[in-house]
Amino acid sequence: MAYRKVVLEGDEILRKHSRKVEAFDEKLHILLDDMAQTMYRYEGVGLAAVQVGVLKRAIVIDTGDGLIELINPEIVASSGVQEGNEGCLSCPGEYGIVKRPNFVTVKAQDRYGNWFEKSGSELLARAFCHEIDHLDGKIFKDLATDLYRQEEKPKRKFSLKVKKE
Ligand code: ZN
Repeated sequence: MAYRKVVLEGDEILRKHSRKVEAFDEKLHILLDDMAQTMYRYEGVGLAAVQVGVLKRAIVIDTGDGLIELINPEIVASSGVQEGNEGCLSCPGEYGIVKRPNFVTVKAQDRYGNWFEKSGSELLARAFCHEIDHLDGKIFKDLATDLYRQEEKPKRKFSLKVKKE
């Protein structure tokens, strides 16, 4: 395993659509392992393959309850609304207030190609939406109603901690 360089906002690749994963092979497994290592190194809660420069529909998420790998993920159900802080490893030091569904179910394949469904609320629901957006060339700043730099954080009434169930 090796961590990879995170692509930063401004790089054109972040605006491209990622391609469906067809081969569930060693190359994909190495990519997923590297993505997880990269996410943990930078203390993110999620990372999409495009953020390490690979246009494949693969994401990793860990909101504190263990690693989740989603290949070719699609949102199949969502409900409720949450509004809260969001950041991105591709936009270091920047945060924004983004509205997301509070409950999301995704359908995805695992690293071997098996389909499964996973549901999440609050931070996990937010992470599903944020990472799947990356696969379609979108970043959180496109949706944010308020953007601010890390230095401004203490002055803000919103806390960066998203409460979990
Ligand atoms: Zn992101």
